[in-house]
Amino acid sequence: MKEFVSGEIFGIIRSCSESLGVRSYVVGGYVRDSFLGLESKDIDVVVEGSGIALAEAVGKRIHARVSVFRTYGTAMLRFKGMEIEFVGARKTSYKHIAGEQIIEDGTLYEDQQRRDFTVNDMAISLTGEDFGTLIDPFGGIRDLNAGIIRTPVDPDTTFGDDPLRMLRAVRFAVKLSTPERKFSIAPDTLEAMGRAAETLKSVAGERILEELNKILLSPFPAMGLRIMQDTGILMQILPQLSRLETVEVQDGKGHKDNFAHTLEVLENVIHFEKEASLEPKLYLHWAALLHDIGKSVTKRFDPAVGWTFHGHEAVGAKMVDKVFRSLKMPLGEELKYVRKLVSLHMRPIALVDEVTDSAVRRLLFEAGEDIDDLMILCNADITSKNPRKVLMHRANFEKVKVKMTEVEKKDEIRNFKNPIDGNYIMELFGIEPGKDISVLKNAVKDAILDGVIPNEFSAADAFMREKAASIGLKPVE
Ligand code: ATP
Ligand code: MG
Repeated sequence: MKEFVSGEIFGIIRSCSESLGVRSYVVGGYVRDSFLGLESKDIDVVVEGSGIALAEAVGKRIHARVSVFRTYGTAMLRFKGMEIEFVGARKTSYKHIAGEQIIEDGTLYEDQQRRDFTVNDMAISLTGEDFGTLIDPFGGIRDLNAGIIRTPVDPDTTFGDDPLRMLRAVRFAVKLSTPERKFSIAPDTLEAMGRAAETLKSVAGERILEELNKILLSPFPAMGLRIMQDTGILMQILPQLSRLETVEVQDGKGHKDNFAHTLEVLENVIHFEKEASLEPKLYLHWAALLHDIGKSVTKRFDPAVGWTFHGHEAVGAKMVDKVFRSLKMPLGEELKYVRKLVSLHMRPIALVDEVTDSAVRRLLFEAGEDIDDLMILCNADITSKNPRKVLMHRANFEKVKVKMTEVEKKDEIRNFKNPIDGNYIMELFGIEPGKDISVLKNAVKDAILDGVIPNEFSAADAFMREKAASIGLKPVE
């Protein structure tokens, strides 16, 4: 495997290691990606000795600044756009009394035993006679070729040491998969995930979120979510979503499996993004994932019509808040965006029956800049198995889109800015800030959205003066 370590930096690491009298190895993602023919900007180096001392020696040689993390015994430096991390080989053992984990110096083999998966566990020697030799004690190459994610040691041990590795298993399965070849998780590893799912409760929300986001941005998130659901992992981290799978039957009538539907919608969104050459948008994926989240709580059976989910979009939008908080997600613009898409996702469908200008204006006003994303979500939401129905729905949406373009051209609602501002009202009538101002402004906004007046100053001003007179306001002389 000499060709994988022919870069200049490896020669420098070799020479510094040999001066210090230590053995070093490149491990993990870099080796895996080299075998896959992928470029990787991260290089992880394991040293049988001090990682910090080797990093400092290398840093001195190439005149690079070294960042040292003493608590972790690691050090990092940058070289020609690469990020190189050095760590001493470790073994993990347990203080039995407190059950606390302690890290001790170890050999390469011991270090490899405590890594997550065989495909991430291959090392290439950077020192001595065996420079460039692959060290693969757990069958990483075999598993990489077969497309299998497997823990190097007993999976109960691997997941017991760090439950987050269960989500990493899912992440690597979806990340390494290609359309031609899907990766799968080895049966015994998968079974261990089922047994350990509950222990994810002890993992910090931020770490879980990071993996979830990576899964959602991978090419096959639906596949990952299916694994999470079947192993019980999803019930631990996103119970509201997991519950959508329950299908109830009453009077011989069932409803659709809303979990399977959600996965399809997510896949469709990704398909549409690709079709339009758009970058995958993380929070659009979140919106797809959460769009029907209100269905498990709004579900009712009405003997006359069967199952209904009335108001699931409004209830779902409220639940989005809880999900964001529980996963420590950002509570600013991102939350607002997902909440908006969830709460509006039924609106374009409702429009299809009666595409009036004012209904379209309302939708444009409420969706604002996010109208295109909303339309992607709504199109993705059509998952009927009946091709005629799909075509009909799509055609209807096209009609709505055409109408939206017309209305937008005429009235410019998308970035709606009220032509009447509060200061103008205060000066005109000589009044102080108060509720009259919002009453007048809202009246103008509604009149524009309802098509009573055009979206322009003179019409809005006349309308506002009339309204003001009706509540007893007179312009100052
Ligand atoms: P990526 O392309 O996502 O960076 P990577 O394989 O480099 O993939 P990292 O998270 O950067 O993944 O970790 C580097 C290496 O460290 C992994 O390949 C793996 O061997 C090991 N590793 C990282 N996190 C863990 C963990 N939680 N448990 C066990 N081993 C881990
Ligand atoms: Mg990495």
